[in-house]
Amino acid sequence: MRTQVGIVGAGPAGLMLSHLLHLGGIESVVLECRNRQYIEDRVRAGVLEQGTVDLMIETGVGERLRREGLRHEGVWFSFGGRRHRINLSELTGGRAITVYAQQEVVKDLVQARVSAGGQIVFEVDELSVHDLDSTRPKIRYRKDGVAHELSCDFIAGCDGFHGVCRPSVPEGVIAVYERVYPFAWLGILAEAAPTSEELVYTYHERGFALFSMRSPQITRLYLQCTPDEDLTLWPDDRIWEELCARMRTEDGWEPAVGPVIQKGVTGMRSFVIEPMQFGRLFLAGDASHIVPPTGAKGLNLAISDVWVLSQALESFYKSGRSDLLDQYSAKCLQRIWKVQRFSWWMTSMLHLFPGGDGFDHRRQLAELDYITSSRAGMTTLAENYVGLPLD
Ligand SMILES: Cc1cc2nc3c(=O)[nH]c(=O)nc-3n(C[C@H](O)[C@H](O)[C@H](O)COP(=O)(O)OP(=O)(O)OC[C@H]3O[C@@H](n4cnc5c(N)ncnc54)[C@H](O)[C@@H]3O)c2cc1C
Repeated sequence: MRTQVGIVGAGPAGLMLSHLLHLGGIESVVLECRNRQYIEDRVRAGVLEQGTVDLMIETGVGERLRREGLRHEGVWFSFGGRRHRINLSELTGGRAITVYAQQEVVKDLVQARVSAGGQIVFEVDELSVHDLDSTRPKIRYRKDGVAHELSCDFIAGCDGFHGVCRPSVPEGVIAVYERVYPFAWLGILAEAAPTSEELVYTYHERGFALFSMRSPQITRLYLQCTPDEDLTLWPDDRIWEELCARMRTEDGWEPAVGPVIQKGVTGMRSFVIEPMQFGRLFLAGDASHIVPPTGAKGLNLAISDVWVLSQALESFYKSGRSDLLDQYSAKCLQRIWKVQRFSWWMTSMLHLFPGGDGFDHRRQLAELDYITSSRAGMTTLAENYVGLPLD
């Protein structure tokens, strides 16, 4: 088998790349180890930057997003018992974020690829990548017990943090920059109508909490917990008690309680590799970087990487130029490090660190006060939160 671009992983990065390449007249095959239902049901991110929304709409996969996505022109920060709103749109010339669950983005992209006759091979096993520094790299895998080899011009490693592409790069080529945080998030999805139309980030002496939503009927809530938190110690009643204790404000605002339909613990890390390319292997999305979820950037970064990669591949196939491919890593990393900085900053401002003392507490409160009262502070937050320009 042969294709122009072999894509490993059908997450947002791999699917969007395949979609963009198709629009540019470039053939690709996506290889995914899970089945279609699994990737379409996987609950993860849910906040789309303006650039991600624009790209989905402009490339014809944004119809349902436009109909069902919840556009938010503001965001709330709660501390000292009070909520403070930052008007994102007013501070960024009309830009906003849109709440639309990652699994819905995945469904829309899968649907678009399938309708266009695109090839996504689900449930592949034992996938490995070869001859990366040649002009004919290969992907070997098994499907239903049968061995296959896909010969490509390029391979896109969009297989997430635990994928096989990054570890296939020879030792010594890639430098890793990393921070692991001493806390995690216990997240729930609940059948409860959101009591705020916009997200509420809470700093509290019991720990961070985040109020978010996925639809007019479903609330998504998170609590700061320990990285090895035992979920069996968190029956629903205890989760609600803790959420309300952290989120309730002086004016009586708190989340509405309802049946918990999903629960999980997400670790927090900042991780970047440099470079994001080896020979004809290009890494994109979580395969090359991870951000703590506080800035709501993981999915958006995956989309911005593949946007840059698709432009570079188009330039290669249309005019034989390889300069944009050579610049892929440097170009993505410029934006990635700004997003890493923002995600680290939001995380540091809003969480309790073990060993933190009265100094840290007062410094964090002062910072929150500044970014919710100074126009310059609010603008910095707003322009990063709605998303830095894609290109
Ligand atoms: C539990 C969890 C919760 C999250 N919550 C948030 C959040 O609230 N907000 C936020 O902004 N971000 C969140 N993120 C991050 C966000 O979901 C990711 O940044 C985003 O999914 C990145 O997309 P991707 O396509 O790069 O990788 P992924 O979505 O991880 O996709 C990689 C794909 O590759 C496949 N794959 C892996 N290995 C192989 C292999 N060997 N062969 C074939 N296929 C393979 C996987 O099955 C997967 O489908 C969360 C992530 C996790 C894990």
